[in-house]
Amino acid sequence: MRAVDIIARKRDGQELSQDELQYFVHGCTHGDIPDYQAAAWLMAVYLRGMSQRETVDLTSAMAHSGEVLDLSDIAPFVVDKHSTGGVGDKTTLVVAPLVASLGLPVAKMSGRGLGFTGGTVDKLESIPGFSCDLTPAAFRDQLRREGIVVSGQSAGLAPADGKFYGLRDVTATVPSVPLIASSIMSKKIASGANGIVLDVKVGAGSFMKTRADARSLSQMMLSIGRDLDLKMAAVISAMDQPLGCAVGNALEVIEAIETLQRRGPDDFREHCLTVATQMCLMGGQAKDERVALEICRDALDSGRALRAFSRWIQAQGGDCRVVDDPMGSLPQASVVRTVNAPESGWVVGLNAMVVGLTAQHLGAGRAVKGQPVDHAVGVVLHRKIGDVVKAGEPLYTLYTRDEATAAEAERGVTAAYRFDNALVPKPAPILEVLA
Ligand code: URA
Repeated sequence: MRAVDIIARKRDGQELSQDELQYFVHGCTHGDIPDYQAAAWLMAVYLRGMSQRETVDLTSAMAHSGEVLDLSDIAPFVVDKHSTGGVGDKTTLVVAPLVASLGLPVAKMSGRGLGFTGGTVDKLESIPGFSCDLTPAAFRDQLRREGIVVSGQSAGLAPADGKFYGLRDVTATVPSVPLIASSIMSKKIASGANGIVLDVKVGAGSFMKTRADARSLSQMMLSIGRDLDLKMAAVISAMDQPLGCAVGNALEVIEAIETLQRRGPDDFREHCLTVATQMCLMGGQAKDERVALEICRDALDSGRALRAFSRWIQAQGGDCRVVDDPMGSLPQASVVRTVNAPESGWVVGLNAMVVGLTAQHLGAGRAVKGQPVDHAVGVVLHRKIGDVVKAGEPLYTLYTRDEATAAEAERGVTAAYRFDNALVPKPAPILEVLA
C-alpha cells in the first residue's frame, strides 16, 4: 500500500477500506507517513467527506493507535461525558460529582481550552494543588478509591488524534463532521468508559453553527459509539450566548460551586441536570427520565453533590477550602471593573464567540498550544438574552490584570451585546436530546 494512492482515492471521492485507513493512521502515528501527506489527506477528507463506515473504521484505528484503558475490573459500568466545546461551559465540574454521588462511577479525560473555547483542565487547575496530570495507573487508582476521576488527556491514549489535531489546526480542516467525530470518539473509546453522554454545542460560540450540522455530528458520534457497543446519548445545547454567567477559569469554578449550593444561574443548572439525567439513565440508576431527573435534582438540592465535589477535589490534591471560601483560595484579578449598560432595553443578543475571544485575550485562554493561562481573569455577565436593563445599571464585570486590558475588553464585551425595545424570550439551553 502507498500513502499517495490512499490520498488520491480520497481526493477522487472514493470510499477507503478498513485496511487503507488502518495503514494510513498507523503510518502517521509512527512517523512513516510524513506530515505533508497527512495534511493532504486531511484536506481530501475535509472536501470529500466520509461514509459512516469509513468514519467508524477511522475512529477505531485512531482509538487503537495507542493504549486503550480497560476499566472493567474496577466497575461494571463507568460513564463519561464530552462537550464539543463552548464558552462558559463548566458542566463537568457540577455533573461529574453529581453523578458520582449517586453511586455511578465517572471517569473522564478532559482537554485544555484552545482558541475561544474553554477547557475543563484549565478550570480545575485554578484550584490550588489540584492535579490533572495523572498516569493511566493513577487514573485507575483514583477511580477505584473515589468513584470519580477527571484528568488531562494522557499522551499514550489515541496518539493519532494528537497528530491529526495539530495538523488540522493549521490546515483549516477542523470543522469537518467525520474528522471531529473521529477525534472526539477515538479519545473517548481509549479512555475506557462504557457509556458516554455527548454535549453537542450549536451557535456562535461553538464549532457547529447550525442545528442541522450539530445533529449530523451527533448522529455520527452516536453511531460510532453504538457500533463499538457503547451506550450513547447526545444533548444538543445552545451556544449562541455563554452558558451561565461566568467566563474564565477561577470565575467558572466559583459559579460551579454556587450551582452545587443552589445559587447558580438557571440556564446552567438546567443544562447540568439534563446531562446528568442522561448519564444516570444509561447507568441504570433510574427506570425512566422523570425518575432520573428527580434523583439528580435531589442530589443537587440536598448538598450530596457538593459533598462529592469536596471529596473529589481533595482526592486529586486540591485545596477544598475552595468550597467555603472560594475568594480566599482561588487566584484573584488585580483589576475588577463593573461596566454599566450603555442604553435601556431588552438584551436580544450576546455573542458567545466575542465574549470567549475577549476572555482569551485577557489571558483566560491561549492563542497557541502550551501557553500558560491566567486563572484569575475573565468576565461575569449580569444580563443575558431575555433580560431587561436600564441605562447605567450593571451589565457585566471584568476581571483583568491591568487597566489597559480592562479598557480593551470593555470595548469587546459591550460590542457583544445587542439591545432592542421589544422583549425576546429567554432562550432554552437545551435544544434536543437524542437517546
Ligand atoms: N474536540 C475534539 O476533541 N476534537 C475536535 O476535532 C473538535 C473538538
